[in-house]
Formats: sequence, C-alpha cells, structure tokens
Amino acid sequence: MTGFNFGYQDPVPARITFEEWDDLFQQIPDELIEKFHYFPPNQDAWSKYLFPPQVFAIYGARHLRRLKFDNSLAALRLWGFVNNESERLFRARQIGRRVIAVMGDLGPLAVLVNAFPDCVPFYPDCWWWTPFVMESKVLLETAARLGIGEATCYSRAALGAFAKHSYFPDPDLIIAATGASCDDYSGVENLVARLTGSCLWVETPLRQPENIEPLSDLLVAEYHRVISALEELTGTHLTESALAQSIAQANAVRTMTARLRQLAYQDAVLPALEIMVIEFGCLHYYSDIAEWTAILRHLLATAEYRRQTRQPVVPPEALRLAWLTPPADPLLLTYAEDQGARIVATEYVINQALTLIDQSQPPLTAIARSHIDGSLNGTSRERAEMLIRQAQANRAEGLIISGILGGSHCAMESRLIGSLVREQLQIPVLEFDVAPPNREIDRQTKTRIDAFLELLRSRR
Ligand code: SF4
Repeated sequence: MTGFNFGYQDPVPARITFEEWDDLFQQIPDELIEKFHYFPPNQDAWSKYLFPPQVFAIYGARHLRRLKFDNSLAALRLWGFVNNESERLFRARQIGRRVIAVMGDLGPLAVLVNAFPDCVPFYPDCWWWTPFVMESKVLLETAARLGIGEATCYSRAALGAFAKHSYFPDPDLIIAATGASCDDYSGVENLVARLTGSCLWVETPLRQPENIEPLSDLLVAEYHRVISALEELTGTHLTESALAQSIAQANAVRTMTARLRQLAYQDAVLPALEIMVIEFGCLHYYSDIAEWTAILRHLLATAEYRRQTRQPVVPPEALRLAWLTPPADPLLLTYAEDQGARIVATEYVINQALTLIDQSQPPLTAIARSHIDGSLNGTSRERAEMLIRQAQANRAEGLIISGILGGSHCAMESRLIGSLVREQLQIPVLEFDVAPPNREIDRQTKTRIDAFLELLRSRR
C-alpha cells in the first residue's frame, strides 16, 4: 500500500455513500487527522482539514448527502481540502496574505499571481457550483437582484457571492479577463466591477493559428500591466526566477493531473466526480498550491497502486462516455456511474489550465501561449477536436453534452459540436440543459440519460 497513508490500509476500492463515509471515518486514527494541514509548513490546529463529508453538510453543503465518493484516504483528503476552501481564504486574510480574485480566463492569471510571495489567487467563477452543492438559490437570487437573471449561466452565482461578502473575503485586487471568451461571464464581470468599484481588466484575444506571435505579444503586454499592479500592491519586484518557479509548480500540478486523468479514463481506478474535482484543481489549486500538490501525489500513488494491483473502482466494462461542458450539478456524474457508465474523455472548458506551459520559452510568452491553447478562445470546431482526440483514444461509445440554460456558448455550439462528433466518431450524442439547483435530478433528465445508456448498450 502507498506510503502516503502512514500505515492506514485503504479498503477495497469502492464508491461509497455519505453514510458509509461516516462509518468508515470512525476507523481513521486520530494521529492521521493531525497529519494534514493546509498552508504547509504551517502545523497550527486551525489548519486541519481531514474531515468527513458530514462536517461540510452540517455547514450547508447538503448535496454531499446524495453523492458517492471514492473510499480511499487520498480521496477523503481531497474532499476535506476542497470543501474548506472558503475557510482557507478567510484564514489567508487573517494571517496577512493578499487574496487576489482572478476571473474569466480559468488558469493562466493564477500562475502570474502565484509568483508573488504571500498572494493567494482564486477564481470566483468556481462558485458556480455553490448553489448546487448547497441546494440553495440564494446566490442566484442575489445576482438577479443585481441585474443578472435566468438568461445567464449559473456562473452568475459569483456575483451573488461578491455581494454577500461571506463566501470569500473581499479581494485585495480583482483581475478580470475578457474579450474572446465567454459572453455570459463577461456580463458577470461587468456587474462585479460595478459592485466592487475596482477591477483590472485584461484583454484576451481570439485564437488565430496563423497569427500566434502577435497574439501572444498582446497578452504579454497585458500581463505586464497585471504585474505592475501586483508589484504596487505587494511592494515586491517580480523576478524572472520567481515567475519560472510558479510555472514549474503549475506544470507539476498539470503533469500529475494528466496522469490521473489517464489512469481514470483508461484503467477506471478513480471515479468521474473525483477526477472532475482534480481537473478543476488546475485553475487555482483550491487556494493553496503546496498542499494541493501534496494531495495530488497521494492520489497518484493510490491510483497507481490500484492499477498495479488491478483494483478498479468503477467496472472497466461500464459504458464509456465522453462528456462536454462541466455538469453544474455534480450529481449527474454520480448518476451516470450508478447507471452503468464511466467517463473516459472530457472537455470542461478548461484546456488552458491543463496544457503544459513551455519552460523553454520566456516565462510570460509561455503563459500567454498556454492561454491561447484555451477551450473558449478558438472556434467550436477546434473545441470539438480537443474532445474528439481523447474520445477516440479512449474508445468513447457516446457523448453527453450538459448545457447551461442561457449559457451563450452552449446555445451556440452544443449542436455543432454534437454533429461533428457524430460525423467523425459515429457515436450517439445526448444533449440536455442542467436544471436549476435541486435535491434530485429531474425525472425528464434521468429518463433521457437512462434511454441513452440503453441505446449504447444495444450497440455493443
Ligand atoms: S460554463 Fe460556459 S457559459 Fe458558463 S461561465 Fe463557463 S464558459 Fe461561460
């Protein structure tokens, strides 16, 4: 068994319920709970995070009661860490760190901020999951009162979170990318800027493969403005080596994530929900890159051990699905697995956070190039190709597109990408919009997923 477990023996791999984790947690020795702290090397009692899902459900994350979780210690560590991110951001403020909101580009700006000492970057964009996880419409209703209602993506929850001042501390600086990206989120950013009265805008260009150099020059110029603002805020001059170190750290996270995705998609050794959480860790490392890196090492050791000992957590013979656009409701992934499917390819609009940053290039140019590889700043055809390559490699048998009601890119490109996938891979495609936050998946969506999986089964 992996040395990361400090002698604790993981049970036979399984996806377990909320109640089963409660029972299993009784077997975790107290000494083990003391081992894991965020913001390492800090070891203060306030920074422990190895808690079972029950703790977070009591504090409002009620949807956890309906999900299924991987039963390894590494996964428990992942869930504890991810679920206490709000607390971590407030602690960051208490211990004198600068809390920097980066918005809209999902990946590259966090690498810049991370190069500054005692700065913690985070994407408020990720609070789009909060209404689902808390089974509450409070943030969406708050956003509606501020002018952005149902015709916009669930990411409008970020605006509600800014207005509430209780989901994360008021940032020391807000940096917002806009341009060739998501219209819905640009609208959210505009209202955040109006609400907070301050925002540093970063122009992001459309990808034009024949024109990469001028585009990356434009981004580098934009990044210089960001660096000046951060230097002024922190009183620190950014050195090339600090930036190179931040890139190396981001690449370490991205490399481990790539291997974990491969192990999950090809060897079925991690469930879809955990892998989605891992993928999204590439955005801002859940506000603590050092501890997130340690958690990834633990997950990797667990997954490699399961592969070597042939202990999958999901039946390898399950129906192989590709998934386009992250499901705002995480219960959808649990449901698909419960119904006999597994995920083998994803395009969750975060390609810019998954590709390796080229360490042989000047650092700012390399970060700019990683941005240019993004999911949303190119054509729909290019986005389709990102998915098709993976789906082909992992022999996906069907594609699910979970759209967002009002999400502009979904309305415009879901059908187009679906038909490209049908044409090139000759596999069925199911497209639906994710319903608003609720305790359960609505009956119509369940029926459509069931019928779709039945169709895939009949094609075997
Ligand atoms: S899910 Fe789509 S519509 Fe919503 S913020 Fe992200 S890119 Fe924009």
